[in-house]
Amino acid sequence: MLAEQVKELLERTSPTGVEESIIVQGWLRTVRHTKGVSFMDLNDGSCFSGIQIVVSPDLHNFDSEIRSLGTGCAVRVRGALVESPGSEQRYEVQAQEVEVLGDVEGDYPLQKKRHSFEFLRGIAHLRPRTNTMGAVFRVRNAASMAIHNFFQRNGFFYLHSPIITTSDCEGAGEMFRVSTLDADSPPRDEAGRVDFEKDFFGREASLTVSGQLQAEIAAMALSRVYTFGPTFRAENSNTARHLAEFWMVEPEMAFCDLKGDADLAEAFLKEVFHEVREACTEDLEFFNKRIDKTVHSRLNEVIDKPFERMTYTEAVAVLEKSGETFEFPVSWGADLQSEHERYLTEKVVSGPVIVTDYPAGIKAFYMRRNDDEKTVAAMDVLVPRIGEIIGGAQREERGDVLLGSMKEAGLSEEEYRWYLDLRRYGSVPHAGFGLGFERAVQFLTGMANIRDVIPFPRVPGYAEF
Ligand code: ATP
Ligand code: MN
Repeated sequence: MLAEQVKELLERTSPTGVEESIIVQGWLRTVRHTKGVSFMDLNDGSCFSGIQIVVSPDLHNFDSEIRSLGTGCAVRVRGALVESPGSEQRYEVQAQEVEVLGDVEGDYPLQKKRHSFEFLRGIAHLRPRTNTMGAVFRVRNAASMAIHNFFQRNGFFYLHSPIITTSDCEGAGEMFRVSTLDADSPPRDEAGRVDFEKDFFGREASLTVSGQLQAEIAAMALSRVYTFGPTFRAENSNTARHLAEFWMVEPEMAFCDLKGDADLAEAFLKEVFHEVREACTEDLEFFNKRIDKTVHSRLNEVIDKPFERMTYTEAVAVLEKSGETFEFPVSWGADLQSEHERYLTEKVVSGPVIVTDYPAGIKAFYMRRNDDEKTVAAMDVLVPRIGEIIGGAQREERGDVLLGSMKEAGLSEEEYRWYLDLRRYGSVPHAGFGLGFERAVQFLTGMANIRDVIPFPRVPGYAEF
C-alpha cells in the first residue's frame, strides 16, 4: 500500500510516540537551521498544512546533505510522530532518517516570497506547489465530487456526451474546428471551397460548446441525466471570467418546467457549496484570509438564503430606475452585461438572484417560447462578484414551434433532423442548465482571474503546458 500522507498524520487522534516510526514524503517549503537543531516544513499537497520535521545534527548525512537542503527539495523522512511543543501545530516529526529524493537547482523559481498570479501562470508546471494553487486544486476536487454526489443522490445518471461534434449547440459559430486536412493545401471542390467531404469525418466537425443537445437525447429515455466534461469556445473574450476550454456541468430533466429547473439550480448550488465548505475548511479559511475577505460571507449567503427571483423585464426596470450609469446602456431586448448582472446581485439583492424569461431574440433557438410570443423560458443564476454562473432553460418540446424558431435562427432542418425527431416521438416538457465549473470555483475561492482556478488555462493566444 501507499505510505501515509501528511493529512492522515495530522488527523491522528494521538501521536505514535518515540518508539514507533512513520514515514512522510514531500517537498520542503522552508528549512531553518538553528544551533543544535534544524526545522523543515514538509508539504505533500494532501492538505493545506505541512508538517514540521525536527532534525538533529547527529544524523549521519547531516553535514553532507541535510545542511544544504532548501526550498523545493524532495525528501523522505522516517521518524517519530510526537506532540509538538510549539503552538503552531499539533504534531511534528522527530527525524531518525532523512533521505534526499530530489535536490533542487539554484534557480528554483518558487522561493519563499509572494509571487504574482501572472508570474505563476508562466510556471504552471510548478505553481501547484504554491499554497494558493494547492488549495485551488483541492477545492476543484471537492467540488467535482460534491457535484457527482448531488446528482447521484437525486436520481440523475452521468452521461458521457461527445467532445467532437458536428452540430453547433448555440448556433453561435464560436467553435474550434477538428480537421485532419492538410492546412497548406486542402482539397477543394469545384467552387474552390475547402472540401470537407474529404476530411476525417466526411464533414465539418468541431469541439463541443455544450453537451446539452445530446443530454436531451438521453433525458428522453433515462429521465434525469447530467454531463460533466470539457467545453470549448473560440470566443475572443479576454476577460477574467472566460476560458477557451472550461468544464461544464449540464443536468437535463424530462418532465420538468422552468420553475423546476430554477428550483434544482438553487438546491444544487446550496448543497454543492455546503459540501465543499465541509470538505475544505482549511483551504477556504486560507482563501477568506488571504485572497478575498468575502469568501465566507458570500458562501453563507448562497447556502442559507433563498435565491431571489425576478423576470428579465423586472430586472431591466430595476436597472433603468437605478440611476446608475453603466458602460453599456440598459434597454428591454438587449442582453444583460456583466456589470448589470453584478449590480443586480450585489447592489439590488445582495445575494444570488435567478433572472427568468428573457427576450427570444437574445437567447438560443431551443428555449421554450412563452405565451407572450416575445420571451422564452430561460433563466440565468447570478451571484455576487461573478455575475452569471448558471444559464439554463425549459426546452421547446413542441415540434412546430421549434421548427419556427430554427427557421428564424437560420438553422438547417436537415442538420437537426434527430433533434426534431425527439419532438415527434414521445416528446415531453423538459429543462436543464449549464454551470460553468470554473466560475463556481472562482466563487468558492474568491480568485479574481478564471485563469488561476484551472490547472492549465487555454485563452486566446495562450495554450502552454
Ligand atoms: P457569458 O454570457 O458569461 O459569456 P454564456 O451565456 O455564453 O456566458 P452559456 O452558453 O449559458 O454561457 O454557458 C453556461 C455557463 O457556462 C455560463 O453560465 C458560464 O458559467 C459558463 N461559461 C460560458 N462561457 C464560458 C467561458 N468562456 N469560460 C468559462 N465559463 C464559461
Ligand atoms: Mn448564458
